[in-house]
Amino acid sequence: MWRPNWWRRLRRQIPEEVLFALNRLAEAGYEAYLVGGAPRDLLLDRTPEDWDLATDARPEKVKTLFANAWPLGEKFGTVRVPFDRLEVDITTFREEGAYSDGRRPDWVNFTPSLEADLARRDFTMNAIALDPLREKLVDPFAGVQALKRRLVKTVGEPAVRFGEDALRMLRFYRFQATLGFRGDRETEKGITPGLITKVSGERIRDELTKLLVASFPKAGLEGMARSGLLPAVLPEFGAVLAEPGLFRHTVATVQAIKPATGLRWAAFLHDLGKPRTRVVQGDRLHYYGHEKVGAELAAAILERLRFPRKVAEQILALVRWHMFPADPWMTDAALRRLVARVGKENIKGLLELRRADLVGTPGVAARAFSGLTQFAARLEALLAGETVLSLRDLAVNGHEVMEFLGIQPGPRVGEVLQEIFHWVTEDPARNRKELILEYLATRGNNPD
Ligand code: ATP
Ligand code: MG
Repeated sequence: MWRPNWWRRLRRQIPEEVLFALNRLAEAGYEAYLVGGAPRDLLLDRTPEDWDLATDARPEKVKTLFANAWPLGEKFGTVRVPFDRLEVDITTFREEGAYSDGRRPDWVNFTPSLEADLARRDFTMNAIALDPLREKLVDPFAGVQALKRRLVKTVGEPAVRFGEDALRMLRFYRFQATLGFRGDRETEKGITPGLITKVSGERIRDELTKLLVASFPKAGLEGMARSGLLPAVLPEFGAVLAEPGLFRHTVATVQAIKPATGLRWAAFLHDLGKPRTRVVQGDRLHYYGHEKVGAELAAAILERLRFPRKVAEQILALVRWHMFPADPWMTDAALRRLVARVGKENIKGLLELRRADLVGTPGVAARAFSGLTQFAARLEALLAGETVLSLRDLAVNGHEVMEFLGIQPGPRVGEVLQEIFHWVTEDPARNRKELILEYLATRGNNPD
């Protein structure tokens, strides 16, 4: 780490706006350090997501040093300085009082002590301060050593720190997933799963999403299962963990799918319905209808975690239809009906999920993958040349059906539209108003 050109090389990794901000504070006579995720990521040769500075200058002072600074959370000492490409958050050194609610400190104070500021941070690797101009690295909790050993470890007593803020328990596993680090054993012993009820659904959602879309979700998920945090966060996973092989398969499916929010969540939840639907037939297990039960369980989870409606709908469609028959010899009509049921927008994701599901299943024959590839090719061709994919794409609407048949609004209208849809999907060339009306006239009287 300490090769001769180390500091010069380090400065080259830092955007000039950030160096400018550091220099401005230094020239005004203050201490100024990079803190939080940035020093950690720089020392790991990763690109930092955001640039946080800590200083002994008070927020009022910081505002006068940067023309377009605005208070982000002035009470907590943070001033944001926007530049064209990025923004720099500058926070006055602070220390915190007790956390009597398990979420937030009772008070925060400004302090002249950098060490006090670092001591309130969650993990040793996140408690390193770096001054790249004066070439100083401040590391009172051996964060650099933890980085070298690839360990996530709390600053101070684990149970105390998790007790102050239960969200840190999720962050403990999230960082293992994003960095591929191990969790320190003593730290994991401090996990108290029951405390997680203090954390809001939104914050659980955001941390779990970061964990799921990370490069090493397996590390985070297995740790959460081992410590009991996973079933505390999502009780539905208690049964998944009890079902032999199911959690392992779930994790393998998550790892095998592209790291996008909807896809990773769908993989995570796709077999939630299996424990409740298991039946033994001869020497085989079956899980008939587990995708439907799973979609119901998943809906409850997504609701609790306050997922936005659009993402939730995508995840639920994937869970609900992940058992679709991927038969390369399926008729065009059946293929079209599948697309109509699942939704055009979900087809790609559904194929991804099926592929990951196969990858995550031990002993799947190569034939299954080539069958899926053929099936995907047919779907793609169909989607490229096809227009009749949903009821709304039909050349007639409900009003026209009612008028033509002389019927009143009611469920019958929907049934007739379904029937027309079925007929049109047999041959998309039929999707013309006069052909459909002719079909309605000649299909034989089929009164309610
Ligand atoms: P990311 O790459 O996700 O941004 P990060 O380490 O920068 O990781 P942030 O949530 O941006 O994480 O927080 C910035 C810093 O603030 C952390 O590095 C840590 O020092 C401190 N911190 C954040 N959340 C907590 C917490 N719940 N308890 C204690 N310290 C925290
Ligand atoms: Mg950050």
